Amino acid sequence: MSLSIHRGDLLPGRNYIGRWCDAEEGRRFDVTDPATDAVVASVPDSGAADARAALDAAHAAFATWRAVPAKQRAQILKRWNDLIVAHQEDLGRLISREQGKPLAEGRGEVTYAASYVEWFAEEATRANGDVIPAPVVGRRMFALKEPVGVVAVITPWNFPAAMIARKIAPALAAGCTVVAKPAEDTPLTSLALVKLAEEAGVPAGVLNIVTASRQRAAEVVDVWLDDPRVRKVSFTGSTPVGKHLARRSADTLKKLSLELGGNAPFIVFDDTDLDAAVDGLMAGKFRNGGQTCVSPNRVFVQAGVHDRFVEKLGARIVALKVGPASDEGSQIGPMINAKAVDKIERHVNDAVDSGARVVVGGQRLAALGANFFAPTLLVGADATMACSCEETFGPIVAVTRFETEEQVIAAANGTPFGLAAYFYSQDVSRIWRIADALETGLVGVNEGALAAEAAPFGGVKESGYGREGSVHGLDDYMSLKYVCQGNLR
Ligand code: NAP
Repeated sequence: MSLSIHRGDLLPGRNYIGRWCDAEEGRRFDVTDPATDAVVASVPDSGAADARAALDAAHAAFATWRAVPAKQRAQILKRWNDLIVAHQEDLGRLISREQGKPLAEGRGEVTYAASYVEWFAEEATRANGDVIPAPVVGRRMFALKEPVGVVAVITPWNFPAAMIARKIAPALAAGCTVVAKPAEDTPLTSLALVKLAEEAGVPAGVLNIVTASRQRAAEVVDVWLDDPRVRKVSFTGSTPVGKHLARRSADTLKKLSLELGGNAPFIVFDDTDLDAAVDGLMAGKFRNGGQTCVSPNRVFVQAGVHDRFVEKLGARIVALKVGPASDEGSQIGPMINAKAVDKIERHVNDAVDSGARVVVGGQRLAALGANFFAPTLLVGADATMACSCEETFGPIVAVTRFETEEQVIAAANGTPFGLAAYFYSQDVSRIWRIADALETGLVGVNEGALAAEAAPFGGVKESGYGREGSVHGLDDYMSLKYVCQGNLR
């Protein structure tokens, strides 16, 4: 099956800064298919001048866009949602092509991305403030919500449509304007989304996007971080880069939303429905080949069910079909690039050298391509191993046996990260004890797939702060202004 798309103009191959344009210096870089490493397209390799031009455009457009009535902004966003849904197949193919995920998942990501656009189209008209009862006669007091201003959006490669949609949609809904830089590995889907936004009627200057190679990412983003006209940074990516952005934004005290790395525990208690737990782990762990920030990274199984759970899980992992996205039946695609495969291999080797045992997989699948790694099950993992301390971001399940609730809670929370956690139990008292004790922003109870546009998504500890989606998501793009009118007669 071919991954080619029907509408060739969804591959503009240019920056959008009020109009489609090349990088000022004319440089470009190649985008490759991770399944084959073949070049798919090229896009501008932008630098500081392009970043400044994008910011100038966004800043100039802010005064007009913020004054557009919320209902009109909502209608534009609804049209954008409709266009994304109508182009699901093309967008799904683009995602799979540049990111490598199976086509069914590429299509699913388009639906997921659109759900945020639709949600924030609706939320745009509900940015209500407060009328505050005045403590003295002759006063009226109000708390009004205002857009923060120009927002810099920086996104990772693992969800090329969803990550950018769930930042741009609330920003535009709130009345902010945007400068965006997608990841080097996956710029094509975001350019296609901006093309559809233009078609939906987002005015020139309101949404600007520049692409850049990894070598020039900092040059572009630093322009935005250092400029006081950027009032907010919304970033999804790794914790070290998130910390760098926070430090560099400090001089101009920008508002920040940081959706950073995770190290999710997945806990299976003795009292659980084992088949449901296996289903939940398969769904959570192997989506996008494990390259998901909320992916279970440390699996803790209580001693009484450990061996049975491992046996059931092993049978399911062996049956997974690995292959390129162009193969309709494949369930696990390639990893994003060679560096990602090297990390996974290092984690497996380190675990084995430290006493873990490979039950399934454990090696590269070189016959399929340089970026493929076998879905792997390890038992005998412990807290000292790299696969427990770091986010593996690959199709590796490392199981640790535990005895008591106290032990497993200490282990689950024994990480600087706090994005997602999952546990399986049928005991209602235990469910609330554990849900309360877990130090994470998201908790799945007998559920392996959590994300939804109506729910607040985000972490605690070094997984960042800010929430995306839900009724809280719009507030991250707004500030409160208190207005007090006095001397009324
Ligand atoms: P990353 O290396 O931090 O990159 C994310 C974005 O930041 C990319 O656009 C990247 O550009 C850019 N970037 C990198 N270094 C930069 C710098 N010095 N200055 C400015 N921008 C810079 O993360 P990634 O490897 O793409 O994504 C994986 C990470 O994202 C994982 O840790 C994962 O857990 C996390 N993630 C979190 C969530 C969440 O919601 N919490 C969701 C998805 C992913 P280049 O691509 O050009 O390097």
